[in-house]
Amino acid sequence: MLYEDDSVQIKLWGVRGSLPSPLDPRDYRSRVHDVLKSASSIWKKEPDLSVEDVYSRLSPPLAGLVGGDTTCVEVRSGDEQLIFDMGTGARRLGYDMMARGQKGDLHVLMTHTHWDHIQGWPFFAPGFIPGNHVHFHSCIPDCEERFSRQQQFEFFPISFQDMMSDKTFHTYEQGDAFKVGSFDIQTESLIHPGGSTSYRVDRDGKTFIFATDTEFYGPELEDLIEEKKSFFKDADLLIMDAQYSLKESEQKIGWGHTAMVIAVDCAIEWGVKRLALTHHEPAHDDFTTYKLFEEALEHNKQYGDKLDLILARQGDVLEL
Ligand SMILES: [Zn+2]
Ligand SMILES: [Zn+2]
Repeated sequence: MLYEDDSVQIKLWGVRGSLPSPLDPRDYRSRVHDVLKSASSIWKKEPDLSVEDVYSRLSPPLAGLVGGDTTCVEVRSGDEQLIFDMGTGARRLGYDMMARGQKGDLHVLMTHTHWDHIQGWPFFAPGFIPGNHVHFHSCIPDCEERFSRQQQFEFFPISFQDMMSDKTFHTYEQGDAFKVGSFDIQTESLIHPGGSTSYRVDRDGKTFIFATDTEFYGPELEDLIEEKKSFFKDADLLIMDAQYSLKESEQKIGWGHTAMVIAVDCAIEWGVKRLALTHHEPAHDDFTTYKLFEEALEHNKQYGDKLDLILARQGDVLEL
């Protein structure tokens, strides 16, 4: 057993969209500066507070990072595991799996193969271990060729085939359902350049949906939300693409991403209970991301706080 109980834990190993975006040294210095200023003003008022107390009072963008690694999400329950996408967050997930001695069958569910969803694979240590068997699930008929192409010698020194794990590709049609262990999984196509797949995971009466790289926008928005309702309906937790501000989504029609406030509209219309906003724009610093999140919270308030709204941050663990 990896966990003591049978609850479902969802760990976010990468929440950045499009491109890894590590913290720039200048941003780091300015962040430390703001932390020191904020902490010293707290201590001035209450000099007896411990470091931990002061830390807990810092504003969220000062107390932590949104995170720069691209999409990778791990779902675990007991000794069962699903991995969604192989963005750069998969590197740290791989180290973690090695450290806990996880071996055998691994299941990777691919939304699509844009760089930010595959780049972590050649750095995913369990993929190099003989005896491990990686099952790739997707709605992409040539998924294996796409992974192989990423590791042509001009781009990476070790070929996909030379990674020592066994690999099997399972291909579905959009709309198909399949099972991995005790997880019942349903696929659904999303609007995105080149297509993307959303996965609905049902287990023990609880539902988790992963829907990234999807564009909900345009004159047909209401129809689109209605069309997708039966798939997204009443999910306990939805992790959804929310890369843009509303203005950016107007400027970037056809780029395949959704504004935070529109993700809120969608989730409320679908009766979702908890919404985690992810695939953050790499050009946004954390203060901008939190500002958009504040707007999303405000938007949710206008609906009477129907949603439990979360900003997805690297390293967060959500429980189902
Ligand atoms: Zn992406
Ligand atoms: Zn994409």
